Amino acid sequence: MDEKLSLIEQKIYNGERLTRDDGLFLLKSDELLRIGALARFAKQRKSGNKVYFNVNRHINLTNICVSRCKLCAFGCDTDASQAYVMEPEKALSIARQALADAPEMTELHIVSALHPDKPFTYYADIIARIHQEFPNLHLKAFTAVEIAHFAKIANRSIREVLTILKDAGLGSLPGGGAEILNDRVRQIICPNKCSAAEWLEVAQIAHELGIHSNATMLYGHVETQEERIDHLLTLRKLQDKTGRFQAFIPFPFHPENTGLSDIKRATAWEDLKMLAISRLILDNFDHVKAFWIMLTLPIAQVSMAFGIDDLDGTVVEEKILHAAGAKTAVGISKQAIIDFIRETGNIPVERDTLYREVQVYEGSQA
Ligand code: SF4
Repeated sequence: MDEKLSLIEQKIYNGERLTRDDGLFLLKSDELLRIGALARFAKQRKSGNKVYFNVNRHINLTNICVSRCKLCAFGCDTDASQAYVMEPEKALSIARQALADAPEMTELHIVSALHPDKPFTYYADIIARIHQEFPNLHLKAFTAVEIAHFAKIANRSIREVLTILKDAGLGSLPGGGAEILNDRVRQIICPNKCSAAEWLEVAQIAHELGIHSNATMLYGHVETQEERIDHLLTLRKLQDKTGRFQAFIPFPFHPENTGLSDIKRATAWEDLKMLAISRLILDNFDHVKAFWIMLTLPIAQVSMAFGIDDLDGTVVEEKILHAAGAKTAVGISKQAIIDFIRETGNIPVERDTLYREVQVYEGSQA
């Protein structure tokens, strides 16, 4: 066993790619600290002592959803007491207020449920109007699941939908909805949303059109260890082809209020191992992000010793994961993020969505 881990260590130090078998070995290993140290080494090679964050605001246009995935506590029916839909003016007023509160904000992160009646023009119009008023604000909007939904309701191809949105001002895709890219798993946790192949098709076409995206992974539900590793390998393969994934964002399933509430949330040990192994296998992704909202701030902070180089952003008002019982704050101040990163001995770097550096917080500079 120890010999196998030593061989994997040698591969990492030599810059060699890990295999499926290596990934499975690491996932089954109890050597968390050795795996973490290896991931930290791999991270140092990518981004040195820098840990990135951005100043952003989340907007969720609606929670009314035709899919009603078992994994989700956010989507609801039209007649549910918590159901809402934002008109474009409301989304615009949130953007105005967010910029008034934080003029340095660089990104709006817009994701929503799959509304039964809102046409594709509703979404394209919101992007166009926000972009017209705030041309310098990066609009990171719509998961591949939403893009596939738009293609269906508008009777257009994925390429046409993405082209229309790009022309309207869409900057990039956030990368959600990947869950586990395996149709056996998707049939159980989200049978009505796009298949694994469709998710990958959206990402590939977006990349071909010059639109960057991220890729997520939701672990800790019904997937096997093999399916976790295969999820990473599938993304690595597409990244070899396109090179336009920016960050990989693995996070644990939050069972509360979902149709899978009998499942126990993954432990901190499992979170840290998954983050570290992601860093080791995805050698062609520049960044692995600890989405602090999902992981909790303490785990996100410790993850900086396990290969993580990005903490997402200030967020301000997160709804989707809090519906599933996330106990974290719905947002965090920029100063708190800076202090939090600095305490780990890393250098906080404020970035924009495309990882261009906005400000590097060296020394004790606030
Ligand atoms: S995960 Fe997305 S598609 Fe599924 S029910 Fe929730 S909001 Fe709808």
